[in-house]
Amino acid sequence: MNQKIFIKTFGCQMNEYDSNRIYDTVKKIGYEKTNNYEDASCYLLNTCHIRDKAKEKVYHEIGRVKKIFRNKIKPLVIVTGCVAQAEHKEMLKREPYIDLVLGPQSYHKINETILNHQTKKKKLEETEFDAITKFKYLSEIKNQSKKISSFLTIQEGCDKFCNFCVVPYTRGPEYSRPLSQILDEAKQLVDSGTKEIILLGQNVNAYDFEGSRLSSLILELEKFSKLKRIRYTTSHPNDMTPDLIDIYKNSEKLMPLVHLPVQSGSDKILKSMNRKHTIKMYLEIFYKLKKINSKIEFSSDFIIAYPGETDSDFRETLKLIDEIKFINSFSFIFSPRPGTVASDLPIIDKKISLERLEIVQQKLFNNQIMMNKSLENNTINVLVENRSDDRSKLFSRSEYMTSVLFSGNDDLIGKIVKVKIQNSNQNTLLGEVVVQSNQKVA
Ligand code: SF4
Repeated sequence: MNQKIFIKTFGCQMNEYDSNRIYDTVKKIGYEKTNNYEDASCYLLNTCHIRDKAKEKVYHEIGRVKKIFRNKIKPLVIVTGCVAQAEHKEMLKREPYIDLVLGPQSYHKINETILNHQTKKKKLEETEFDAITKFKYLSEIKNQSKKISSFLTIQEGCDKFCNFCVVPYTRGPEYSRPLSQILDEAKQLVDSGTKEIILLGQNVNAYDFEGSRLSSLILELEKFSKLKRIRYTTSHPNDMTPDLIDIYKNSEKLMPLVHLPVQSGSDKILKSMNRKHTIKMYLEIFYKLKKINSKIEFSSDFIIAYPGETDSDFRETLKLIDEIKFINSFSFIFSPRPGTVASDLPIIDKKISLERLEIVQQKLFNNQIMMNKSLENNTINVLVENRSDDRSKLFSRSEYMTSVLFSGNDDLIGKIVKVKIQNSNQNTLLGEVVVQSNQKVA
């Protein structure tokens, strides 16, 4: 066929992984990836339902595509991801420009769906929850990521049903991929040059395949000698089991940044969110990990002005931020998702919500700035990923995922390098190379 496909990805790292796997899949029926949407004969939107007005953003984007292709041959238009799952039939009715709709657990059927559409000239939707078949299918297709840092999905779905979240409805129940399938994909990645693997899952630390937990998987990955770094995201506090905490004692490659969403510092609000953990439990995890390695730092997600959040609940969140000193965190004002329990609760006044968000973000940004400042004049290990956008510097990441820029030759790409930090701002560290190393600093 030799056609070109352009994928626009919204949302999380799991969607980014899925988009890459879609590229790997459609190659089989003659589609080539293009980064120029105007060249595309297939335009695919991989959507996210987490943020505000997700659905409207999709229709807006389709409107934009229509305009771009007004005087050209209409591309095949496909919508995948969580909005596709939530909207499916509705979407084909509301926007006739869309040809195919595939949910996040059905995108392995994309080739047969495209071919069916071509022969039958019919609009189609596939939104079954079938993670087992999806991953079995994907394991037979080589992961073509040639990146230094690559994502690897090991788990999908969620059984926790937090009252504000759509994931259990759009991604289905918790499912863990077979260990051997993950290790095969990890080998493909490492053989094609990956030096860092970021294990993904909506509840990545709930990973459990026939008794093999995330901790066992990390130890298996450690055995790949060419793999330098391992990370995982996103976790739930209830699944920070003793074996996973203990792995920080034994792992050489697991990075010292733990992303552990807490959402609120108030037990009352956590209960109302149906988070099923308390602040005491959260702090216990934090202090256990700190005891194992004092260089471990936490990042988190916060929902500000959740329905019912009083000034005193909000102060509890500020207190927690002061105690843990989170780095690199995400914070958003609560916004209701249709179909969730919290969508029926009374919203907090917009002005109060904005004021609270500003206070929280100021604190979180200060932590980030202080953390980066504390590294000035120190030497840290970075993994070099590629060149900066303007090509003038090498782009790398610290063990805490912070971007680090410095001058150097391309032969450092893919290596762990020691860099002396000279300057910093909130998001970036600037330095100069000291000496190449394979050792972990933290
Ligand atoms: S644990 Fe995470 S993915 Fe699951 S419902 Fe809660 S917020 Fe959503």
